[in-house]
Amino acid sequence: MNGWIARIFTSFIDVPDKIATAIYFSGCSIRCKNCHNKDLWEKENGTLMTDDQLIERIAGDKLSEMVVFLGGEPTDQIDFLVHVCKRLKNETQKPIAMYTGREFEILPDELLENLVMVVCGPYREDLRQEGWPASSNQRVFKRKGDTWKC
Ligand code: SF4
Repeated sequence: MNGWIARIFTSFIDVPDKIATAIYFSGCSIRCKNCHNKDLWEKENGTLMTDDQLIERIAGDKLSEMVVFLGGEPTDQIDFLVHVCKRLKNETQKPIAMYTGREFEILPDELLENLVMVVCGPYREDLRQEGWPASSNQRVFKRKGDTWKC
């Protein structure tokens, strides 16, 4: 299975107090006003990777404790995203977080069941704030056992 990926690196800032392998998907259909990642709006600005290549890169990041998907918009490639999440859960056991411009309530269960943290909602320039997340409408959900808390 293939997906469009813009960049992969070890991140010290995307998940609070954790070192994570950050996977930036390319392609975003949400197009928030004054988005800071406009270079990731077009899928073709990334590289087409197989799930095997992506898993290999993640498994090879010995520093990271977690994986975090960002973009671009990861859920625009939902089949690839769910497939990679399932493989990661089975093959690396690294917890997985995701940033999405979509709202938590519309995310499919087959995706959520693989995640431990979701930062959701579009970037709103009029609600921009210092700190994290970038705008005050964005919500952070964390899993506690089988329950999600915001
Ligand atoms: S969802 Fe993210 S990448 Fe897409 S336009 Fe909004 S801020 Fe930019």
